[in-house]
Amino acid sequence: MPKMFTKPVLNAPRGNRVTYAGLFLFFITAVLLAACEGKPAAMTMDNNSHYDPRQVFDLQFMQNNSTPERSASGVPGPAYWQNRADYKITAKLDETQNLLKGRVEISYTNNSPDDLRYLWVQLYQNIYRSDSRAALTVPYGNPRADRITDGVQIYAVSAFQGTTLEKISYYVNDTNMRIDLTKPLIKHGGRIRLTIDYSFAVSSVYYGPWTRMGVMNTKDGPIFAISHWYPRMMVYDDVHGWNTVPYRGIGEFFLDYGDFDYTIEVPWNYIVVGTGALINRDAVLTREEISRLDEAARSDKTIHIVASSDVGQTGARPVSNGQLTWHFRAHNVRDVAWAASPVFVLDAVKIRLPDNKSALAMAAYPRDIANVPDGWSYAADDIKQEIEFFSKQFTPYPYPTATAVAMPLGGMEYPAIVFLYVNLHGNLLSRFLAHEIGHTWFPMIVGSNEHLYTWMDEGFDTFINSQAFDIFNHGINLSGLNTNSADYITDVLNKEKFPIMTAADDIPEEVVYNLEYKKAAYGLSLLRNYILDQDNFDHAFKDYIAKWAYRHPTPYDFFRLINNETGEDLDWFWKEWFFENWKLDQTVTDVRYVDNDPKKGGIITIMNNDRMVMPVVVAVHESGGKTTIIKLPVEIWADGNTWKFKVNTSSKIRSVVIDPDNLLPDVDRTNNAWNAPP
Ligand SMILES: [Zn+2]
Repeated sequence: MPKMFTKPVLNAPRGNRVTYAGLFLFFITAVLLAACEGKPAAMTMDNNSHYDPRQVFDLQFMQNNSTPERSASGVPGPAYWQNRADYKITAKLDETQNLLKGRVEISYTNNSPDDLRYLWVQLYQNIYRSDSRAALTVPYGNPRADRITDGVQIYAVSAFQGTTLEKISYYVNDTNMRIDLTKPLIKHGGRIRLTIDYSFAVSSVYYGPWTRMGVMNTKDGPIFAISHWYPRMMVYDDVHGWNTVPYRGIGEFFLDYGDFDYTIEVPWNYIVVGTGALINRDAVLTREEISRLDEAARSDKTIHIVASSDVGQTGARPVSNGQLTWHFRAHNVRDVAWAASPVFVLDAVKIRLPDNKSALAMAAYPRDIANVPDGWSYAADDIKQEIEFFSKQFTPYPYPTATAVAMPLGGMEYPAIVFLYVNLHGNLLSRFLAHEIGHTWFPMIVGSNEHLYTWMDEGFDTFINSQAFDIFNHGINLSGLNTNSADYITDVLNKEKFPIMTAADDIPEEVVYNLEYKKAAYGLSLLRNYILDQDNFDHAFKDYIAKWAYRHPTPYDFFRLINNETGEDLDWFWKEWFFENWKLDQTVTDVRYVDNDPKKGGIITIMNNDRMVMPVVVAVHESGGKTTIIKLPVEIWADGNTWKFKVNTSSKIRSVVIDPDNLLPDVDRTNNAWNAPP
């Protein structure tokens, strides 16, 4: 199923812009104009070029009509709808057997125009079964094939439809479960309450950067970082109906929004951090810890809520035996995750948000790394700075807390909580934190489909990370994305055979970072800094966030919104950058003078050698010392691969350089300059 999404036509709920009448008129007009102006009508093409302008300037790129749900201008349409899932979860962690047992009550609202005869629920813990599709679709030798749990055990599913609670039959298909309703859930607001009793063993296998949760043993005790830990509603939408793509471990999530109320029962000596506000802090924290929390809520300097000297001390817990139940509530989120451990040091600091609002940045990490220089003791402060920057730049951080948890994994984001590799420190810790915290905006606020369009969260996040470049005193590059140089991206264009628009599970895992993070982010940087201007792009980008906050945009909604708001038809760019694996090679091929006289001006010929196009910037340096910068729009390439233009000169041209600032991903820079013979 994901394969089809490499073809825009199948999925774009969009307007057919091309009519035969229109094409005919265009053709006639073009011929007439060419004849009137005495301009040669033939394309100026060099036979050795790979370039085909009709593939780039392709009127069939977006074909389908807008729908009542999604407007042609890229904003939600008048009939836009989304279903809603609210959850109440009670769970108990049995730390002796790494077992989580829970009951979830899902209140599901069907806002769609369709009656639903069945519901689909995600059981993503089934990915850890040895017979899961995830396990069976990774090659021998890859640790991701090493799946060891029995997945989710379902004890009972019942539904409360109307007045009676009844047991209900279900069918499990890999990571998904269909619930067969006895009578349909009616359209336009029908509601149902499901209750599911379940359990699963917490995975202890390290899957490299794709480890999204699990249990880790430290010197002093375990850390549990727990996600996709309750049956979650699959999204039913206007694009696919039920989004039935199986979870295979690389592609992430796609979820509806709702309110959560959840409790976690753990041994008395555990500290729990999770998505949302802690409701019963009087029951689970000491008086001293509560007053430190209140102090942190007013403090611009990090406060230890649980200091490393508190870890393991009975005086640092409100009780000294038995169990404690931690109670959290989260409003309007797509998911909740949490972590629990007896070894946590817990830090907190105030985040200053626009309009005098605030939130709390927190870091939870094992005592044995508390003294690592430039390490986790700086994490809460990093989060504070990152969130303050992103809140100013885009839209304010929406949650009461933001917590980073040290875990044995590369980095994984959930609403208001991120799990991050425990051994990070220094710039790398700041960079990973900025990335995971940046995911608050994509996909937690702007809820795109991560399963299919990884670039809409990873690429966008990497792009905003690059804007946060210098928020820290140490001036680190937060994204690994240097927007001043294209050198690092030409490598990707040279090497990668797949387009960005491929589902992450359908490309080799080592390619995912290059395409979905780097290439996608660099494309947005090109738009912002080169193709458009910053103000024009920023205005539209902010509006994209505002219009699609807590909603489900598709790539075409984004493309259309940017086209509409910036006043540009960027279809050529969307196609070449996101749907193709094309390369760019601009070159200066010839320099001469009008009547052989430098005082009358230079005539410069440039060429587009490969299949991608870009607007052109040329620097002309004269022997007299003058430098002229010429900017040419992308439309010069609309009918051929060579372009000849005049530049006013007063002395002999010393050199002509195309893309003088090295902003474009030109795969062969050796032909970018023309130098006068000595
Ligand atoms: Zn990410």
